[in-house]
Amino acid sequence: MDPKHLWIDIVDLGKKKEDLAPGTYLETDMGRVLVQTKTWFCGKCHRACVDLDHAKRCCACSECGEYLGEEVGAIHRECYDKAQKKREQDRWDKKKLVSPDEVDWNERVLSIEWSYVIEDPEEALEIYLDDQHPTPIKDLLDTEIVLMKKDPWKDVYIEPILERVDEEYFEEASEHLHGVEELEQAFRVFNEINREKFSAWIECDEKVRVRDLVAWLGKTDWLEGKWNGEEEERGGETESNPGE
Ligand SMILES: [Zn+2]
Ligand SMILES: [Zn+2]
Repeated sequence: MDPKHLWIDIVDLGKKKEDLAPGTYLETDMGRVLVQTKTWFCGKCHRACVDLDHAKRCCACSECGEYLGEEVGAIHRECYDKAQKKREQDRWDKKKLVSPDEVDWNERVLSIEWSYVIEDPEEALEIYLDDQHPTPIKDLLDTEIVLMKKDPWKDVYIEPILERVDEEYFEEASEHLHGVEELEQAFRVFNEINREKFSAWIECDEKVRVRDLVAWLGKTDWLEGKWNGEEEERGGETESNPGE
């Protein structure tokens, strides 16, 4: 469907933009349209739109442009899923594929489980492979795992507190406070104690391939498609320890 039928320019209606006062109604053969400071109208619902682009997208799926009869920004379920998938793929594609031996494993972990962090790459890989069960290991070798890096502790400061005092009482009220220096000192100590203990892990822009990881860990049987020394059958093995 040609999206052009969805919009009209006021000029096309034989009116000059300068002659139209915002807030008045304009009679057209499509019915009454409200004149705003905008110049573009949706030809379906006659809604005034910020610009031509919005007018074209009004009543249309924001992905495929097909008539939907909904508000601006409406989207087909399938179009949404497709766009979402593409965004996820793009995000993934942008990540740099790195070799496990160039990774500083003190600074990186495999993004396997968000709820807890496994710092040992071998253990993390085993958990990943178990999670992917029952996909045969040979089919997992070309998958990629994203790496996470430490997001360091962010110091907390006294300034926002002082600003709040100024806001709640009077201008520069914080300058008359007592104990500010002691509080600042306490914040320094507080930051110092917590800096080592608290740091979140966040996704970084690097990824590793399972095959490279397996080779780097020397798991040659995995490379040959064997799991726990046995040919491919991974069903029912979840109880046993894949181990060394
Ligand atoms: Zn519309
Ligand atoms: Zn669509």
